[in-house]
Amino acid sequence: MGKPLNDSETLDPSDWTALRAQGHQMLDDILDYLEHIRERPVWQPIPPEVRASVEQPIPQKPTDLAEVHDTFMRDILPFSVGNVHPGFMGWVHGGGTPVGLLAEMLAAGLNANLGGRDHMPIEVEKQVLRWVRELFGFPDTSSGLFVTGTSMANLIGVLVARTSALGVEVRHRGVAAGEKRLVAYTSAGAHSCIAQAMDLSGLGIDALRIIPVNGQFQMDVAALKRRIADDRALGLTPFFVAGTAGAVDVGAIDDLAVLAELAKEEGLWFHVDGAYGALAMLAPDIAPRLVGIERADSIAFDFHKWAQVPYDAGFILVRDGRLHYDTFASPAAYLRRETRGLAAGSPWPCDFGPDLSRGFRALKTWFTIKVYGAEKLGRVISGTCSLARYMRQRIEDTPMLELLAPVSLNIVCFRYRCEDADRVNANIVVALHESGIAVPSTTTIDGRLAIRAAIVNHRTAAADIDALIQATLDFGETLTLST
Ligand SMILES: *Cc1c(COP(=O)(O)O)cnc(C)c1O
Repeated sequence: MGKPLNDSETLDPSDWTALRAQGHQMLDDILDYLEHIRERPVWQPIPPEVRASVEQPIPQKPTDLAEVHDTFMRDILPFSVGNVHPGFMGWVHGGGTPVGLLAEMLAAGLNANLGGRDHMPIEVEKQVLRWVRELFGFPDTSSGLFVTGTSMANLIGVLVARTSALGVEVRHRGVAAGEKRLVAYTSAGAHSCIAQAMDLSGLGIDALRIIPVNGQFQMDVAALKRRIADDRALGLTPFFVAGTAGAVDVGAIDDLAVLAELAKEEGLWFHVDGAYGALAMLAPDIAPRLVGIERADSIAFDFHKWAQVPYDAGFILVRDGRLHYDTFASPAAYLRRETRGLAAGSPWPCDFGPDLSRGFRALKTWFTIKVYGAEKLGRVISGTCSLARYMRQRIEDTPMLELLAPVSLNIVCFRYRCEDADRVNANIVVALHESGIAVPSTTTIDGRLAIRAAIVNHRTAAADIDALIQATLDFGETLTLST
C-alpha cells in the first residue's frame, strides 16, 4: 500500500545520464549525415539482406537503444530516398534543413496534441496562419490549417466548396440527395490528387472536367468557358475550378488572374493548387507571376517542398473562415468548450479538418521561417529557378540533348537524342539512379518520355547540374552503343 502501481514500468530511463550521452550521439550522427551528404550516393538500391532484416516477429523483449540506433545507421539511413542530397531532382521533394530537424526534435519532446484546447503550440500555428494570410493578401477572417500535404489540402478545398454550393445540410443528406449534379474543372496538367479529392468527397472522378492546356502548359481558358457552358446546357451545376501554381510535370503556372475573373463571373469556387509553387510568393522576382492567387477562395500548398520544412507540412488556407468551420465542426460532448481553463480557445483546429489528434507541424515551420527569414527562403526559391535556366542553357548548347518543354520555373524536361528514345531515356534514368550520381524522374510530354529534373533542394548547385548532364551523356552513349 502507498506504493504506486508499476512504478518500475515507466518508459523513462533509470539512468538519464546514459540516455543523454546516447541522445547526443544520435544527434551528432544525424548532423554528420547532413554535413557530409555530398560524400554519399544520392540513392542506392536496398540489398536483399537489408530488406529482409525488417521481416521479423514483434520483439517481446527490450533491445538496447544504442543497438537499435546502430541498426538505423547501418540498415535504414543509407537506403533512404535521397532528397536531402543536392543531386536529388526527382518528382518534387524538399531538401529539409538542420533547423527543421532540431525543431522537429523539440516538437517530439513536447508531444503536443494540436487538435484543440488552450496552449501555446496552437498560438504558434495561428502565428503561421497570420503569416500565410499576409503572404497571400487574405483577410483576417480567413482560416487555415496544417495538414499532411497538398493532397489533403485539396480535399479540404473541394469539401468546403461543396458546402458552399449545396449548403451545410449536405453534411447530413449527402451529395446524392439533392437535384444538383456538381461538376468541377481543372487542367490536363493538374495533379492527380484533384481527381482523388472528387472521388473521396463522393462527387466522383467523372464530375471533374479535364481542360486541355495551351502551348505554355496553362489551362486553356477559352476551352474552360466552352465546357462550363456545355455543362450548364446539360443541366449540371459547375461549382469549382482548380488552377495550378507550379504544375507537377513542367512547372507551369495557370493564368490565375483570368481564372479568378472567370470564376467570379460564373459563380464558381476558385481553388489554387499551389503545392510547391504558391510559396514563390516569397521570391520577389517570381511572385508577380502568381498574380490572381490573392483572389482565390482557397489555396493548398506545402511547406515541405520549396520552403524546405521537413516532411510533412501541408497547409490549406480558406478565404471564408466561417464556411470552413461549418464544413467540419461537430458538437461532440467530450470536446465540450469552455471560456476558461484548458478547454478554452474555441474554435479549435479540429473544427477545420478531419483530424482530431494533430502533431505540432507548425513548430518546424515557425522555426524555419524565423531562423532563416522569409527573404532567404525567397532567395533559395529564386536560386532553384536560375539553376533551371542554367540547365536549359546547357541543354541548348549540347547537340545530343533536346529540351521537351519550356522552363517556366524550376523544372527542366529534356532527353537524349537517339533512336528508340523513349526506351533509352527510361534506361538512362534508371542508370542515373543506380549510379548514385543524380536522381531525376521521368514524365511524358506530348507523348514523348522526358527526363525530368525538378530543382527544389536548397543544396543543389551548378556542379550538380553539370554532373547530371555529363552522366546523361555518358549513359546515353553507352546504352545506344550496346543496342
Ligand atoms: C506535390 C504536389 C501535390 C501533392 O502534394 P502532397 O504534399 O504530396 O500531398 C499536389 N499538387 C501538386 C502540383 C504537387 O506538386
